[in-house]
Amino acid sequence: MAFSKRTIDDLEIPEGGGVFVRVDFNVPLKDGEVTDDARIRQTVPTIEALRERGAHLVLASHLGRPDGRDPETSMEPTSRRLGELLGAHVHQASEVIGPEVRREVERLEPGEILMLENLRWESGETDNDDELAHELADLADVYVNDAFGASHRAHASVYGVPQHLRPAVAGKLLEKEVTTLTELIEDPQQPFVVVLGGAKVSDKIGLIERFLEVADAILIGGAMCFSFFRAQDIPTGDSMVEEDDIEVARRVLEKAEDSDCDLRLPVDLVAGRAFEEDTERQELDGVEVPDGWMGLDVGHRTVEGYREVIEGAAQVFWNGPMGAFELAPFAEGTRAVAEAVAESEAKTVVGGGDSAAALASFGLADSVTHLSTGGGASLELLEGKELPGVEVLDDA
Ligand code: ADP
Ligand code: MG
Repeated sequence: MAFSKRTIDDLEIPEGGGVFVRVDFNVPLKDGEVTDDARIRQTVPTIEALRERGAHLVLASHLGRPDGRDPETSMEPTSRRLGELLGAHVHQASEVIGPEVRREVERLEPGEILMLENLRWESGETDNDDELAHELADLADVYVNDAFGASHRAHASVYGVPQHLRPAVAGKLLEKEVTTLTELIEDPQQPFVVVLGGAKVSDKIGLIERFLEVADAILIGGAMCFSFFRAQDIPTGDSMVEEDDIEVARRVLEKAEDSDCDLRLPVDLVAGRAFEEDTERQELDGVEVPDGWMGLDVGHRTVEGYREVIEGAAQVFWNGPMGAFELAPFAEGTRAVAEAVAESEAKTVVGGGDSAAALASFGLADSVTHLSTGGGASLELLEGKELPGVEVLDDA
């Protein structure tokens, strides 16, 4: 499927020119170290390609949700990790904008990289402040967006800067994300199986409705199954259910009746007394959750059934863990589904922040066709929404 935007492949960079690259290095940190560098690694091809053409690069990203300047959320661990991946030094700026940053940019030699500080240290970033966008745009000669995970937000670095800095084109990761995810839904290989879990039905209602039209089967797990059970008057004990979600689930069940899509719910569950690692645990033979217990994972029979459907697929999309996978006693359902997806010969795509984290924690991140770096962005794209950060780029 042809990508409708210009990319770095047809980008002319002026001699001695600088490229502003919006990247998504919003990665998990522990004790000042990056614990999952998938987002950084996936940007390396774009960065290498631009360096090879003699450009110097100004990289910008946000990290976490700081309220103003907060050293805990410095980009430094990410620029260090990027440097290790490239085998080259990456300069770390001490600010997002300002005279010192401009001096640092002026000192860059061809092929050198400067990482700006966390964009969210400036409140103008999320407000799409025009002055901030102008200042950032002044740091380079061309604009590249490779931050798929931030492209659903019309923030200054994603939407404002390219209004002032042209050409504005897509990096390799952005192109790959948009093409892969669009193809999945607009030109699906069949049978197309969707595995959907996670917390809330209402978060994913747009997705479910779209998948009911294009998928052959939807396999439901995670906390969202309890809204479906309540919609069928099945007792859910103390499981996580939001009242508003029950009505949404009821409508989905009705739509599924009228569709050719096979919507499946768990047939057995694992329950715990509380959302805790060392809580009392029991395997339920069925889906009725007794009072005083909460459903925290899908059971063996469910996993076996889901595995069979996944094995027969030509294309699989997985979003949302099957249970409370952060707690070891309730991670088995998610692990089994992750393994089935990883072992499948089909085209397999995984999207969503927690699903990506789960896959990485099982060491299976490289065993799927595509692991989307976008949480919200991948879901919005699949729902059919336009992403402001993509729309704003030059048309091909
Ligand atoms: P993603 O980020 O992949 O889209 P979500 O954010 O929708 O996924 O859901 C992930 C969260 O859902 C995890 O924090 C997980 O603990 C929680 N979750 C899944 N199943 C259950 C359950 N049965 N009870 C409570 N929480 C659950
Ligand atoms: Mg999530």
